[in-house]
Amino acid sequence: MPTLLWLRTDLRTQNNPALNWAIAQNQPILAVYIAEDTERPRGGASNWWLHHSLQSLSQTIPLHFAAGKATEILPRLVQEYKIQNICWNRRYTASGIATDTHLKSHFKSQGLHIETFKANLLHEPWDIKTQSGTDFKVFTPFWRACLAQLTTGVTPGHGWAEASHYAGFGAPSLSPGLPSATKSTFINNPSSLALNHLNLLPKKNWSQNWPTLWHPGEAGAHHRLHDFLQTGLKGYAEGRNNPAQPHFSKLSPHLQWGEISPQQIWQATQASNAPENDKAKFLSEIGWREFSHHLLYHFPALASQNFKANFNAFPWATNPAHLRAWQRGLTGYPLVDAGMRELWQTGFIHNRVRMVVASFLIKHLQIDWRQGEAWFWDTLVDACPANNAASWQWVAGSGADAAPYFRIFNPIMQGQKFDPTGEYTRKWLPELAKLPQEYLFCPWQAPTLVLHAAGVTLGEIYPH
Ligand code: FAD
Repeated sequence: MPTLLWLRTDLRTQNNPALNWAIAQNQPILAVYIAEDTERPRGGASNWWLHHSLQSLSQTIPLHFAAGKATEILPRLVQEYKIQNICWNRRYTASGIATDTHLKSHFKSQGLHIETFKANLLHEPWDIKTQSGTDFKVFTPFWRACLAQLTTGVTPGHGWAEASHYAGFGAPSLSPGLPSATKSTFINNPSSLALNHLNLLPKKNWSQNWPTLWHPGEAGAHHRLHDFLQTGLKGYAEGRNNPAQPHFSKLSPHLQWGEISPQQIWQATQASNAPENDKAKFLSEIGWREFSHHLLYHFPALASQNFKANFNAFPWATNPAHLRAWQRGLTGYPLVDAGMRELWQTGFIHNRVRMVVASFLIKHLQIDWRQGEAWFWDTLVDACPANNAASWQWVAGSGADAAPYFRIFNPIMQGQKFDPTGEYTRKWLPELAKLPQEYLFCPWQAPTLVLHAAGVTLGEIYPH
């Protein structure tokens, strides 16, 4: 009797508890990926990533592709293949949890065996509580509680034993593959849709050069981690705020699709010989990811409702022209425009610049944070229902443990401080490349002669 393995945001072969469990049943495995009809469709950039990630995984595991409602597709497959065992790794959006709960009780009532696992977080959101038993709303004590569990090994749960081989070798495996089963263990299902029929690739030419920038899939994730540990981790604590420096991992899209687990990142980081403060700072960012998921689980409307209800009456501006200028990187504020063009051209923005562009939309243009969240949702390759919503609310001030509402990132000073040579801004705004550093972040203050010498005419090649 075959085992059905339902893959979702866990597109990897290593350190994948559901896959390991399926293999341990010693039965043929039907590995399924469903492009689900969900309340909130994935954005274009996420779809691009997903297509390539599935393509990569299907070279190791024969995957059965389907599109539509999981609640209709899975029961059909169970019947067709006389499935007895079903397993998956858990997810944390409200709609995902609702679907999974429904399916679990449906299959259980039919006498099937269901196993579900923690695979994409260090801690399940319900496992971390304050001393009085409530949910955390502030990051620092939350992360302290997580660290206490991690260092005392109280409830690490699934995934640690296998991830721990990283600790021994100090460097991640660069050619991941199946742990022990051979390909013949998997059912090659003739009724599967072709990957192309999931229609994930954007119709526009938008993402044409992304294959030169990104390598979706498990091997790509491990190469990224390896490179980061070699060249980016040392100096991370200081350098992570400078978008022109290599001190950020770009692991976010790989984590979003579960091509690598946080346990693997944790172990590899601990085993590296980078300075302790750099390791701690980097792992605390993985902690922010945990915190966002904690918030999403306990406040499922995170992407659509203010976490703090006293923001509900905020009089947001409606200004399609301003929104469009922001989206296209044509606001006239160079650091903001550089970030928004990086986003459009690569599907990514550096974290410091994300904060600046988000603050600009919300606090300078006074446009509702949900409009920015939606644009990021569509255009980020790492668009994450937890991190994106929590971060936008953090900048707006409406979120848990958020920046105070009156804190406004100054787009000129942020540029001068965090892009001190102008390398990042000049890269994304080539029309301003020749401006002297003094005026790079405020070209409107430059004397006419200076603008002329740099080939800049405000209002023509760059907005006023
Ligand atoms: P690194 O500095 O290398 O950090 C390692 C990992 O830690 C990241 O890959 C990510 O998983 C996690 N992480 C880092 N910073 C944060 C953070 N502030 N909050 C939560 N997790 C974090 N991150 C997403 O993954 N998806 C999103 O959709 C997303 N939207 C954002 C929107 C806004 C307005 C802002 C300000 C931040 C957003 N972030 C989002 C958080 C952060 O900017 C990215 O995770 C980070 O820039 C990814 O780059 P990296 O992998 O090089 O990060």
